[in-house]
Amino acid sequence: MTINMKRVIKTIIIEKIFDKNKSSEMIFKNFISSLDFCIFADNNIDMNHFYIHIPFCRKKCNYCAFYSIKYDETSAKKFLDSLLKEISTVGSRFFDKSREDKSKLDTVHAKTIFFGGGTPSILDANDISKIISAIEKNFGVEKFDEATIECNPESIFLKKLLIYRKSGINRISIGIQSLGEKFLKFLGRIHTKEDALSSIDTAFESGFDNVSADLIFGIPEQTKEDILRDIDEVISRGVKHISLYSLTLEKNTPLEKMIIAGEVKLPSSDELAEIYYAAAEFFKKAGFRNYEVSNFALPEYECLHNLAYWLGDYYLGFGPAAHSFYEDKRWHNINSLEEYVERLTNGALPSTDCETIGYKEKFEEFIMIRLRLADGFSIKEAAEILNIKIDDFKTILKNLIDNNILVESGEKILLSQDRRLLADGVAEKIVRDTFSFLGID
Ligand code: SF4
Repeated sequence: MTINMKRVIKTIIIEKIFDKNKSSEMIFKNFISSLDFCIFADNNIDMNHFYIHIPFCRKKCNYCAFYSIKYDETSAKKFLDSLLKEISTVGSRFFDKSREDKSKLDTVHAKTIFFGGGTPSILDANDISKIISAIEKNFGVEKFDEATIECNPESIFLKKLLIYRKSGINRISIGIQSLGEKFLKFLGRIHTKEDALSSIDTAFESGFDNVSADLIFGIPEQTKEDILRDIDEVISRGVKHISLYSLTLEKNTPLEKMIIAGEVKLPSSDELAEIYYAAAEFFKKAGFRNYEVSNFALPEYECLHNLAYWLGDYYLGFGPAAHSFYEDKRWHNINSLEEYVERLTNGALPSTDCETIGYKEKFEEFIMIRLRLADGFSIKEAAEILNIKIDDFKTILKNLIDNNILVESGEKILLSQDRRLLADGVAEKIVRDTFSFLGID
C-alpha cells in the first residue's frame, strides 16, 4: 500500500471519529483535492518563508486583477477562523517540529512573513497578531527576521501600527501608487495625496524604520516629471524602498474596458522606457540600488521575502489564492473565499493545481527571474539545470554579450543596465536558443 493510500484511510477514520455525519466519500473527495497528494508524508516541511493572503479591499481598483472581494465584518471573521485552521492543519500534518533549524541552508538566511492582498491593513490589527502567533507556534518560528504588511493609506492609523510593531511586524509596505490626485482617481484608488503622505509620516511616527512604498508609472497622461516628483517626495519623507511598477493591462478590469472603448491609451514602450530609465537614474543619485527590475532600495533595505522567492527558496502561502513552493512542487489555494471556508470547514485543505516542476520549467523560471535581478544568474548553476556544457551555454549567450545586451561578470551573467526593461524578452530568447541548441521542444 502506498503512503498516500495509508494516509487516505487514516484521514477518513480520524475525520469520521470527529464528525459522524460526514460520509467517507465526502472526506475522500476533499482529501484527494488537497495538499496531501502534492506533498507526500515523508516530506517533513522545513519552512522559513510564509505568505498570508488577505482577500479584502474597500473597493476594487480599476486595474487590479488580484483576488480580492469587498470587506465586511462577517466574511472577515469567517476568513480568519478558516485561515487559523489552515495554518494549524498544515503545520500539524506536514511540519516536524523536532527537526533542526535549516534556515541557514536557504539562499536568504532569514525567516520572513509577508501579509499581502487585497488590503491586509483592513483587518483588525489584533487579527494580524493572532495570525503571526499561529504561524510561529505551528512552524516553530521564534521570531521573524522580516515581517512585512502591505497597507493602504486610508487604513493606516497610529494605534494599529503600534499593535503591528508589538506583534513583530517590522516592515510596512504602503500602496501609495501616485501622488497625483487625477491619477489616483483614474486608478480607482480611494485615498488622496494627503492620505498617502500622512500615512508615511504615521509609519515613522509609530517607530517603523523599514518603510516601503509602491508607485505606478505609465498611467495615461502621466509625464516623466510627474513620476520623478512622486519619487522625490516619497524618498524625502524617509522611505527606504520603492517598488515601481508600470501600469499593466489585466483582463476583465475596468481599465481594459476603457482601453477597448478607446477612452484612454497606455503609453508606448518607448515612452515607458524613457520614464523608467529617468527614474532609475534618479534613484541611483539618491543612493537606491535597482536590485530587481521594479525594485529600488537603500543598502540593507532590500525585501528579504521577495528575494527568497526570486532566489528559489521554499515558501508556504495561506489564505485564498495564496501560492506555495516546496522542492519540485508548486500549488496554490482556490481563488474563492466561499470555497476556501467550505473546504476547511469540511476538514480538507484548500490547495489545488499542484504541479511538478520539470527541468525545462526550472530552467525557464531560473533565467526569467534571475535576469531581473541586479546580480544576474550564475552560468554554472544555469548550465547544471539542463546538464549542458558551460562552454556550449556561453556560445549560446555570445551574441547577446557581443551586442551589449548581456554582461559577463566573473561567473555571472547580468543584463546591461540600460536594457533592464527588456529582461523578460531577453530571458525568453535565452531559453528559446538554449532549448533549440539542445533539440528540446
Ligand atoms: S487595493 Fe490593491 S488589491 Fe485592492 S483592489 Fe486595489 S490594487 Fe487590488
